[in-house]
Order: sequence, then C-alpha cells, then structure tokens
Amino acid sequence: MQRADLDWKNLGFTYRKTDFNIRYTWKDGVWNDGVVSSDEIIPMHMAATCLHYGQQAFEGLKAYEQQNGDVVVFRDNENALRMNRSCDKIYMPTIPVEMFQDAVNRVIDANKKYIPPFGTGATLYIRPLVIGTGARIGVRPADEYMFIVMVTPVGPYFKEGFKPVDLVVEESFDRAAPNGVGDVKVGGNYAAGLRGSFKAKAQGYTEALYLDAREKKYLDESGPANFFGITKDKQYVTPQSNSVLPSITNMSLIQLADDMGLNPVRRAVPVEEIFEFIDAGCCGTAAVITPVSSIAYRDRKAVYSTDGQPGEYCTRLYNQLVNIQLGIEPDKHGWIRKIPL
Ligand SMILES: *Cc1c(COP(=O)(O)O)cnc(C)c1O
Repeated sequence: MQRADLDWKNLGFTYRKTDFNIRYTWKDGVWNDGVVSSDEIIPMHMAATCLHYGQQAFEGLKAYEQQNGDVVVFRDNENALRMNRSCDKIYMPTIPVEMFQDAVNRVIDANKKYIPPFGTGATLYIRPLVIGTGARIGVRPADEYMFIVMVTPVGPYFKEGFKPVDLVVEESFDRAAPNGVGDVKVGGNYAAGLRGSFKAKAQGYTEALYLDAREKKYLDESGPANFFGITKDKQYVTPQSNSVLPSITNMSLIQLADDMGLNPVRRAVPVEEIFEFIDAGCCGTAAVITPVSSIAYRDRKAVYSTDGQPGEYCTRLYNQLVNIQLGIEPDKHGWIRKIPL
C-alpha cells in the first residue's frame, strides 16, 4: 500500500488533513447517494439548526491495519445503530446501517494512504456526524440535513501511552440530566462537560468523574468515557444510568470480562464504592482503556496504583481487546468487519 510520508509512531491525537471526506444531504425526506469531497469547509446557511439549536450528533470509531494486512473496523454496525438513536432523540433523520457502512468504506478507500501501518500504535480515526443544515428561526427541526464522514490518522489518545491517570469526583457540575440526552452522542453534552473537565485539569487531575445529577450518590461516567471498577470478589462493575452514553468499548469489555470469568454487572454504583475497588478504568474508542490510578472524592482518595503501572485487570482487558482489533487474537464474537479496498 502506498502511504503518506508521516511519522506514524509519533502522531498525536490531533486533527490532520487527509485528502477526502464524504457528504450526504437529506432533502424532501431522502438521503442522496453521497459525494466524495476534497473540501474541508462546509458551506452552510447561517440559520442552520445545528448552529442555533444543537441539532448535531456524532460518532467515533477507528480503522486498523491488522497483522495480516487487512484493514478492518470494530463493531461499526453498533456505531450506526447508536447514531440512529442519537438522531432520533433530537428529531433528525436516521441513516440506514448499510448507508453508514458504505460511507465508512468509501471514505477509508479514498484515504487509503493515511491508514497507519500495523505495529505503529496509530489508527485511522473515523468521525461521522449528522447536522441540521436547514434554516430555522423558530424552534423546530430542520428540513435539510448533512451526514458527513471525515477521517484523520491519530496516535494514542494519551502520548504517555497506557499509564494510569488521576480522576476527581465532580460534585458542582453535571454533564447530563437524568432524562435528558446524556445517553446519546450529541455535541451539547461535550460543551456541558467542558467546565467540569477544565476544573479537574486546573486542580491537577486528568479528568472529572461525574455523579448522577438527581441524587449525587451514584457514579455516572467520566466526561468522554465510561467508567468501570473491579471488586474484591472479581466482578467487573459499571454504572447503570440513563444519563451515561452506552459505550461500545464498555459493551465489548463486559463480554471479555465474562470470557475471563470476571462476572460483569451493570448496576447503580454508589460513589463510596470507589474505596472498595481493587482496579478501575475509563473506556472508550479513543483511548480503549485508561487505567485509573486514583480518584479524589471530597477529602479522601481511593488509590489503585502507587507505582505508576496500570492494574492487572485493566491490563488484561486492554490487551485482549486490542489484540482482537489487530487480528492477533481470534475474533470470536464477530466484532471485526473487513473494509473492501
Ligand atoms: C463516545 C463516548 C463514550 C465512549 O463510547 P465508545 O463507543 O466506547 O467509543 C463514552 N462516553 C461518552 C459521553 C461518549 O460520548
């Protein structure tokens, strides 16, 4: 494969221009066939609903070059289904799963030379988004939409690599309301999470860990990633909450935890339980697993790692998942889709 001349082993998690993106428009009730564009700019009406009323949803997934040279994506059907739940929740048209996967195929094929080589730790990050482009002044859903898929080659989310981080329980800001839109992937949730995240960073932590907004008693998730803890009796515990985004990474780790005999459970997790866990992590596509070193809560601190090394369970789960993605371990659960190139 002819590749771009990039320092693949030292890519950051930042936007880098590639050659093409793909754009579909929705008008009069139908999506068009999509156009491959070399333009990074989207011309748009200044009264577009995505700019005023937050009609915007996105996804995030990655393409990997496997050990045998195949280029694959991980569970992208789940991203398509989740994007549809997001669109539906904020009155945007949904996207047939086949159209979503076809868009992913086309945009990867057009940008082949940006697929990072196997073994570099880099991946091709894929960012689909749907936006309301129709002009409105009254609060109503738009009559026109765009579905765009852009890609950019990225290195590991944290340049320090698979190293544990420090979290702080955030009590004065909420990311999402109990019956709001916290369970769908809309940009507004990220704007709402910026303040808590910046506050955590200003205090020397990596990220905030949010509590349920109603009672402030239970763990929700950490800004852009789900949370899990491992109990003394070897259970993988992750919060059940309707303001948490259903992470595909978490869903996959639940299966892998089960395969390893870790008894996964999804349930309300009282915040005090952080002091009982023997290992903990955050999970999402971008970083896969971010092991947690400590969690500060009021005047106490739960500590999982004192030597700067990730915990045993985070490490095992991380290796298992990454090895499936890279084709080093067999794909027993049918999570991998090969991209026709
Ligand atoms: C995208 C996202 C995640 C991670 O989901 P994955 O499907 O694992 O990438 C977790 N929390 C929030 C709020 C998200 O937006």
